[in-house]
Amino acid sequence: MQPVQSVSCQSSNLPRSATNKALARICVWMLAALGILPLQAQERGHISGAATYALTKELLAVAPKRFNGSPGHKAAEEFIESHFQTEAKEHRLDIDTFTASTPAGLQTMHNILVRYPGKKDGMIVIGSHYETNYPLKDIAFVGANDGACTSALLIEIGQYLRTHPPQGYSVVLVFFDGEEAVDKWSAQDSLYGSRHLAAKWSQDGTLGKIKAFLLADMIGDKDLDIDQDGNSNSNLVELLKVAAKDIGHPNVISKDRTPIEDDTVPFARRGVPVLDVIDYDYGPHTNQTPDGYHHTAQDTLDKISPQSLQIAGELFLELIRLVDQR
Ligand SMILES: [Zn+2]
Repeated sequence: MQPVQSVSCQSSNLPRSATNKALARICVWMLAALGILPLQAQERGHISGAATYALTKELLAVAPKRFNGSPGHKAAEEFIESHFQTEAKEHRLDIDTFTASTPAGLQTMHNILVRYPGKKDGMIVIGSHYETNYPLKDIAFVGANDGACTSALLIEIGQYLRTHPPQGYSVVLVFFDGEEAVDKWSAQDSLYGSRHLAAKWSQDGTLGKIKAFLLADMIGDKDLDIDQDGNSNSNLVELLKVAAKDIGHPNVISKDRTPIEDDTVPFARRGVPVLDVIDYDYGPHTNQTPDGYHHTAQDTLDKISPQSLQIAGELFLELIRLVDQR
């Protein structure tokens, strides 16, 4: 557990006999009493927004541009894999390599999967894409919000699951490749990694085991307002609202119900209950940037915040808990 603000939890007044666990509990209580951390965080899983933000910064430093075929694309894959050495040793890290036929020719792509076995039959998938937009390869587009911070968030969730193995359904993290269009968005030119994995899992029977497919996209936005995605399963959208309330942030869910085309769609089409946790409304909309910072050189680290990533991380852990209870 790390506090949102830098507050020391050391106190000479604490009893010497207190165990580390008891100290942590007292620390959480102190932070709750100061209004810095909701008391429920003691019982709920906790993700550090500050650590997720720092990880995003590291990823952007080694892989600022991550379009297919670029050195940054490879560096991003190596960066992700380097954070799952424990899982790799235990054969719980899989690289799903495939060839995509794109408007720029054949491209080799890789989805990266990390598995955390649970105790109940069935699985929860948490996904995000890590590559950057191919058509924007010639501008200074780094996708701090669009791909980088959600990749960092999945790494953080993985670090949490390493020390807190799932007690309910198994959890599978998927770092998707090829979400973006290579030329212009269409059914054929987008969602390469998720279309590939949904088809593969349809053939081997994995799809039937998925209790919920949760996607993280663009949720580092400083001004966090998460959509009620019209393409997502309505029960899971309701669960998202419950989760937001549970973690003490009901107001981060906006009223926007615009259907979003994202890596959830190929799974939804095959009958999987999906939830896109996305804040599509990113930055001011001007004549120059009608779509805000989305897909512009303005999508940089200073537009996202540790606070939003903190909320996003806690939302995902709470969603896992709620899906497990159903
Ligand atoms: Zn994008």
